[in-house]
Amino acid sequence: MDFGLNEEQRLLQREVKRFAEERIRPGNAERDQNHEFPAEIVAEMGEMGLLGMLVPEEYGGAGLDLLSYVVAVKELARVCPSVAVTMSVTNSVCCWPIVAFGSEELKREVLPGLAGEGFLGAFGLTEPGSGSDAGSLRTTAVRDGDHWVLNGEKAWITNAGFAAYYVVVARTDPEAGKRGISAFVVDKEAPGFAVGTPEQKLGLNASRTAPLVFSDCRVPAGNLLGEEGQGFKIALATLDHSRLGIAAQAVGIHQRALELAVDYAKERVQFGVPIAKHQAIQMSIAEMATELDAARSLTWAAALAEGTRAGGRLAAEAKLFASEAANRACYRSLQVHGGNGFSQEYEISRLYRDVRVTSIYEGTSEMQRLVISRHLLVE
Ligand SMILES: Cc1cc2nc3c(=O)[nH]c(=O)nc-3n(C[C@H](O)[C@H](O)[C@H](O)COP(=O)(O)OP(=O)(O)OC[C@H]3O[C@@H](n4cnc5c(N)ncnc54)[C@H](O)[C@@H]3O)c2cc1C
Repeated sequence: MDFGLNEEQRLLQREVKRFAEERIRPGNAERDQNHEFPAEIVAEMGEMGLLGMLVPEEYGGAGLDLLSYVVAVKELARVCPSVAVTMSVTNSVCCWPIVAFGSEELKREVLPGLAGEGFLGAFGLTEPGSGSDAGSLRTTAVRDGDHWVLNGEKAWITNAGFAAYYVVVARTDPEAGKRGISAFVVDKEAPGFAVGTPEQKLGLNASRTAPLVFSDCRVPAGNLLGEEGQGFKIALATLDHSRLGIAAQAVGIHQRALELAVDYAKERVQFGVPIAKHQAIQMSIAEMATELDAARSLTWAAALAEGTRAGGRLAAEAKLFASEAANRACYRSLQVHGGNGFSQEYEISRLYRDVRVTSIYEGTSEMQRLVISRHLLVE
């Protein structure tokens, strides 16, 4: 089922699916077990234009629409959620705010590398003491001539150490609350910038996550995004946009969990018949399929609605529903696999670990519910 994709989007979907099956699937299990970052695959994604999908062509990007982007993320996540998040973070929380809020000079300086030369991007909002309550962040930025000087620490940063550019949010006026926060682009070569020890995670082992440390880190004044004091708004707008990438990641994982359950149920024989003949297994597969179609429809609809009045609410609904449904699907699919599902030899055991974070990062499910209810109760 193509869910109303146009010819161009269908072609892109076929191309990304082929790439994922041929280039990403081989070695998936080993990269997960060895916590190995797939640098070669990332370079190939750069050549294919997958790292700057939404960047206008004048800055070296593919200039594609949001639905094309979520379709590509879904196809990557169906094969490897780690690769999908490496790609989606570059597109949505690094390139997107630079396109939307960067000066012309900054865009011409950094976007061609990110969009066309395979450089990765990252986004530094979370800190050891501030996650959901991002407005309480403590990293500071103080103006010094034609530079800003950053001090502080960011936690849980995807692509840390592999990214060329980091969109970083810091406090520029300690007295002004959320209006005293600004956003900057930090080059990996900036003096005073360092990456900490990578996290040992439950899943997404082929994606790198690590802290960032800023010790009198000097950033050119021209690397400010928007105006001084607009950083919190920029961060929220970025997350409004980027949560669709996580919804798409969840849809991809969900689809694969269903495929694996169907295949296994047809093969595994118990009580003299394939377990697919048992009604309890049929019910479970029907639930997975129904929730998959619902999650995909909502995610695609939210992509088409971006920029409209309902866009922000639909994106939060898609992220909430798709991530929770994908978690349920991985639980059900593993259950269909019985004891084998608990073995690392079976793909479902990796998906079961990888899916867990989809309802946590880029805003937990609880935060999505707050965003949705604010649209209904406060707007
Ligand atoms: C693998 C991974 C990659 C990540 N990548 C990035 C990245 O690239 N950049 C980045 O900036 N961050 C990143 N993060 C951080 C992520 O966005 C945060 O973990 C997330 O926003 C939640 O923040 P927290 O972990 O501090 O949880 P907390 O905010 O401490 O929340 C703990 C629990 O309390 C709940 N809670 C908090 N406040 C409320 C409330 N008001 N009402 C109801 N419930 C509430 C939460 O929903 C959650 O269940 C990443 C995290 C992970 C695990």
